[in-house]
Order: sequence, then C-alpha cells, then structure tokens
Amino acid sequence: MAKEQRVLVIDDEKINLKIIGDMLNDDVHVMLAKSGEQGIRKAIQYQPDLILLDVVMPEMDGFETMNRLRHNVHTSAIPVIFITALNDASHEEKALLMGASDYIQKPLHTNIVQARVRLHLELVKQRKLLEKLANIDPLTALANRRKYQDVIAHEWQKAIYNQDCISLLVIDIDNFKQYNDCYGHATGDTVLKQVAAALANQVTDKGLVARYGGEEFVIVLPGYSQEASVEIARYCMQDVESLNLVYSHEEFSGKVTVSVGGATKKPTDKCDIDVFFNMADEMLGLAKKSGKNKILWKLPGDLHLIAR
Ligand code: GH3
Ligand code: MG
Ligand code: MG
Repeated sequence: MAKEQRVLVIDDEKINLKIIGDMLNDDVHVMLAKSGEQGIRKAIQYQPDLILLDVVMPEMDGFETMNRLRHNVHTSAIPVIFITALNDASHEEKALLMGASDYIQKPLHTNIVQARVRLHLELVKQRKLLEKLANIDPLTALANRRKYQDVIAHEWQKAIYNQDCISLLVIDIDNFKQYNDCYGHATGDTVLKQVAAALANQVTDKGLVARYGGEEFVIVLPGYSQEASVEIARYCMQDVESLNLVYSHEEFSGKVTVSVGGATKKPTDKCDIDVFFNMADEMLGLAKKSGKNKILWKLPGDLHLIAR
C-alpha cells in the first residue's frame, strides 16, 4: 500500500473510526466521517481511492449512503467495501448487488482488513494506470487522439453551457517527409518529441495539446478568444522554429516549421464539433497551399485571416 492513496472510513461510532484508522494509518492516508451525509461530502471533495462503509448507522444507513454515492458522477466509480456486524447473507448479497467491491464482517481482524484494503487499492492503481496509458501517445507522451476527443466533447458542452468561446488549432509539421528522407525515421521521431515538447511548453495549463496522428497535433483552448489563440499559435510557431532543426539533402534543404489552421467559436447546442474541427482543418489545408509556415484562421462566412 502506498501512502499516496486515500481511504475514507464512514462509521457512526467514534471507536470504530479509531480502530480502523489505526489499522490503515501506516500505509495510506486515512480520512474519517461519522455519518453517511458527511462521508458523501468528503468523498466528493477529496476523491478517495477506496471507501470503507459501515452498514448500520442512524439516519442514513450504509445502503442509502452507497445508493447516493453510486448516483453521483463524482463518486460513482470509487470502490466501496462494506463493514458490518450483521451476520446475514441477504445483507451481503444486497451490498454486492449494489456494486460493493467487498464485504467485511465484524469483529475486525487487522490482518484481514489490511489485506482486503491492500488488494482493492492495488486494483485501483492498476485501473488508473490503464486509463492513463489508454490516453497517452507513447512516442511524445502527449495526450492521444482518443483523449483529445474526450476533452473537446467535454469542453464543447461546457462552452455551450457557459456561453463561452472555445478555440481549436490543428498543427502539422511542414515537409516532414523530407526530414525523414534526410536523416531516417528514428531521427524524425526525436523531432516529433521536440515539437511536442515545444507545443506543450507553450500551452501549459491553458488547454490541451494532443498528437492527433502522424506529424499532426491539435490544441484545444477553452475560453480563449481568436486574438488570444492566434497569439499562442504564433508563440508555438516561433518556439518550433527556434529549435533550429535544419536538414539538407542534394535536392532540398530547410528547417522544421509548422503550419497552423485555427477556428474560434461560441457554440450553441445547434453546433457540431466535427464541423468545428473541419473549419480548423480546412484552414490548415489553405496554410499548406499558400506556402506553409503560416497561421490561417477561420472567419465567419467564406473569409479567413492570414495571421502569419
Ligand atoms: P506537408 O508540409 O504537406 O505536411 O508535407 P509532409 O511531408 O509533412 O507531409 P506528408 O503527409 O507528405 O508526409 C508526412 C510524413 O510524416 C511522412 C511520414 O513518414 C512522417 N511521419 C508520420 N508519422 C511519423 C512518425 O511517427 N515518425 C516519423 N519519423 N515520421 C512520421
Ligand atoms: Mg506535414
Ligand atoms: Mg500530415
């Protein structure tokens, strides 16, 4: 058990909270709640990795607490172990059918509680690792396309709800095939990593940078106006240029640059994310056609802005 993991214990009896807390304290960060109500509040606020839940409590009992945890988006995925003195198979069945991960009978044995908690925390760790790996591009360590799709869908809904704008940049390395032809695919890979790091360094917590595929990246900037986003696009281009990744060959030579297509929108529920993506992507296509190493931004109607 790693101390970075958090376990929330919900029990109406102080003495039980103390006993269970003492059993787990050495290995995990223990949080205590003395009622279902308080437990739910703490679970929402602190997002524990695991909850130990007493069944018999006055006011809100363990089953009702479990029911509410399962129906709240902020707590529905947190595993719960029931702890009870009730020696009744129908209660155990009910708890498991409600989605409990495990069921521990009182009186509590330190070794058994520790072993079961350890097992469930290990499962939590593995699940989180898998989720992370499923969202990361292994070469650049940026978010991958799948993560981008989750994030844009979420930010799009938020922008509709808040009547706020959202900007999207589609970025593609110029003449990357030439670079690969000069130095080979492995060296090309190091360029992808450096470009990715330059973009990530520029965007930081302003939004999300993802590798969309191949030598193409996307940047989502929630709440960023066209002007502010164009500014970020310019810095991204400058930072890539200043990596000074030059290449030369008998037939061609150059330096690694990127082209950017961008769009900004204050979406309503009548707008479509794919149409929004296509706007930015169409701008990228135009930037390529008009000579590369450029930023083109979608304007209303058939207009666009050549921002660099
Ligand atoms: P343009 O300016 O029109 O984008 O030209 P380009 O050469 O960059 O585009 P093109 O689509 O012709 O070629 C893309 C190149 O990107 C070819 C492909 O080998 C390279 N590429 C895509 N993914 C990777 C990768 O993971 N590693 C390396 N080294 N190269 C990659
Ligand atoms: Mg390219
Ligand atoms: Mg491409």
